[in-house]
Amino acid sequence: MRVAAFSTKAYDREFLLRASAGTPIEWCWFEVQLEADTARLAEGAVAVNCFVNDRLDARTLAILSGLGVRLVTLRCAGFNGVDLVAAARLHMPVVRVPEYSPHAVAEHTLGLILALNRRLPRAFNRVRDGNFSLEGLLGFDLFGRTAGVIGTGHIGRCVAEILLGFGCHVLAHDPHPDAPLMGRGVRYVAIDDLLSSSDIITLHCPLTPATHHLINQASIARLRPGVMLINTSRGGLIDTSAVITALKTGHIGHLGLDVYEEEGSLFFDDHSGTIINDDVFTRLLTFPNVVITAHQAFFTANALEAIASQTVRNLLHLERGEPLEAVVTA
Ligand code: NAD
Repeated sequence: MRVAAFSTKAYDREFLLRASAGTPIEWCWFEVQLEADTARLAEGAVAVNCFVNDRLDARTLAILSGLGVRLVTLRCAGFNGVDLVAAARLHMPVVRVPEYSPHAVAEHTLGLILALNRRLPRAFNRVRDGNFSLEGLLGFDLFGRTAGVIGTGHIGRCVAEILLGFGCHVLAHDPHPDAPLMGRGVRYVAIDDLLSSSDIITLHCPLTPATHHLINQASIARLRPGVMLINTSRGGLIDTSAVITALKTGHIGHLGLDVYEEEGSLFFDDHSGTIINDDVFTRLLTFPNVVITAHQAFFTANALEAIASQTVRNLLHLERGEPLEAVVTA
């Protein structure tokens, strides 16, 4: 079975090839993102395999369907890049990897919190430069602080557990509260209470029309002055311009991002020799209290192994005519 895999890097190919050894899967690798202009590359494939910034809008899906593609497989948990209504209309199931390593993303989230609080990037650069001054590196104890976790699914649950381990008071907001977390001391509250009572806020809900720009001018007004905001979920949860305004006034004291609303044209590629034309993104880079990583929270060997093996399983279900797993519906 021929599978057109888009947005692939050498590391994706290595893990997918290993997981599919001995199976009838025949990969066609493409570095380009899947979108309407590149969809014809999937000619001859029965399935496509895509990643977070591929754009499977109605037009792209119609082209794929016309080429005979019967299945969309995602190498990720988030499915905000797929028009699920259009896919259903075309009878093209969409399957994802719902849980590959929540620990990978949760641990990176804590990495951002610690890097921001203890100003590790600045400290690292100072020491390399022979500057051993501590001025400007003052942090705070996480112990005893209040952390708000928005979305306590696979990843948010792990983040809450790690924060409990640090001795934080953990508040959470999720339409589906997690009983074991409550048993461990996590307190579910209304979103406004979480926003106004947390010293650290970390986002782990999916990007949907309801959560788009969850952090905006109005919600920022409710935040504690000096709050630390972390987003390792999806860029569209945050109105970046509103956050920049709040960083300039100091209302937001620290910002840690692994995702960015317009990351599609930047992340996963080396732009170090070119001019970056996104003025919003470059403004973010000028703040000493902002740490940005380029969508790497998932990037552990454990996660890549799990993504590859679930992807291969998803494809073999189609090949064998078995019921599909992890189907995403609108
Ligand atoms: P999940 O589906 O297990 O959990 C999401 C949780 O969010 C659910 O409990 C759901 O009830 C809750 N939720 C939905 N709407 C909400 C709202 N309006 N307010 C509060 N909570 C809400 O997903 P997950 O595996 O924990 O992943 C969470 C997100 O992390 C994904 O949607 C994906 O976008 C992102 N992600 C990022 C990376 C990365 O590398 N940065 C990797 C994997 C996933």
